[in-house]
Amino acid sequence: MRLGLWLAPTCIDPNSSFFKVHPENLARDQQGEVVPSRFGRKMACLVSPNYAEMFVAKCKRLIDLGCTYFKWDALDGWYCYSDQHEHGNSEHDPEARGHRYGYEFVRTVSAMAEQLIAYCPELVIVYDVTESGRNVGLDFLSQGRFFWMNNGASGYHDFSNYRAKSMRTIYQQYHSIIPSILQTSAQYPHLLTIQPKNRKAYGSQEYKIYSALVGGSGFWGNLKKMSLDERLLANEILLRYKQVSASVVATKPKLTGSIGSSPEIWEFIDDHNAQGQVISFSGAVMRHTYHTAPINRDHFLGIIGHAYQLLEDNRLEFNFEFTEPDSVRSAFILSNNTSGIWIKSASCWIKKLFFKSQTALVVQNGAPGKIILCYPKLKKTPTVYFESRYLNYTIEDTANQRVLHFDIHKADCSIEIEIE
Ligand SMILES: [Zn+2]
Repeated sequence: MRLGLWLAPTCIDPNSSFFKVHPENLARDQQGEVVPSRFGRKMACLVSPNYAEMFVAKCKRLIDLGCTYFKWDALDGWYCYSDQHEHGNSEHDPEARGHRYGYEFVRTVSAMAEQLIAYCPELVIVYDVTESGRNVGLDFLSQGRFFWMNNGASGYHDFSNYRAKSMRTIYQQYHSIIPSILQTSAQYPHLLTIQPKNRKAYGSQEYKIYSALVGGSGFWGNLKKMSLDERLLANEILLRYKQVSASVVATKPKLTGSIGSSPEIWEFIDDHNAQGQVISFSGAVMRHTYHTAPINRDHFLGIIGHAYQLLEDNRLEFNFEFTEPDSVRSAFILSNNTSGIWIKSASCWIKKLFFKSQTALVVQNGAPGKIILCYPKLKKTPTVYFESRYLNYTIEDTANQRVLHFDIHKADCSIEIEIE
């Protein structure tokens, strides 16, 4: 966990000593009056003498105290017309001073972020652009991220799948020009939804968590209000995702269908490293067979989360089955790190798949089914360890592959395959 702080860089409390000591930093309207800001505060002018420097110094002290995540909010596009600041003087008319402020505002926010990232490279700064009229520019994305939309803190009490779905629109619209990692949003990761004013809100926890994994990567909620089971499920999904997240954030997604369609399939695959994820939603109860783009078979290990097969043309085939409306299916594609071992198909979903050591692979199934594992024939006959009596396997040699056929009659069998 990181310590993160929410800050409103231009909001000044009128009861604060800063307000009394530094009137030269307050934004002024065309009549020279102090400009009101959000939350009952007054607005500071970012382009007034020393203000940005003071704000950066304050943030550095917070970093020194352990804060490595800032959310900057309320950066509204309201103008300052003062002739005493660094966006024009009495030689310029008020309108020109206002426009110059708008122009310098974005550059100043980006410059502040740049100084802080230089001071603390792991610092994350998120710029809240949720409200209308926010003063933003692409410049800021060279340092930080946009925060687009909130679910958990929604003022309209909609914590349902419908809201989760609508939030994916952001990534559908912008993923082709802005990498999804630079665009954050917050889904509500709870299973049970709060019910204000006796209004019922429906939603599935998995649907909302997977919506965050196609874009946004954020949650907003209350851990204390999540049951142990809810937290464990969220953790399990996120741990699967983290195995492939480096590839997901570096890949431009391929979207099949549109938001809310049946199906709506998001494919993020680094084809060279054979790593990524396929997340599929459907509004309707249906079945759908999906083929991915070809992957590099030499680097492919297997898939957790969904049954599949690797076809001759190096595409992955999934038979998605949506058993209720607004459901989601997921597949996380793992790289074999050039070990030469790969799982050609699994008729059941695999729950765990990892190398315990350089030569030992662990496979755990999530349901009964058949798993076919291949590796180069040059290697020795494998030693297979398994505890369950609900499993049998055979070994078949082809021209240059050794193929292990596992037939597993029970979920949660853990198999360890040692290949030297
Ligand atoms: Zn000003």
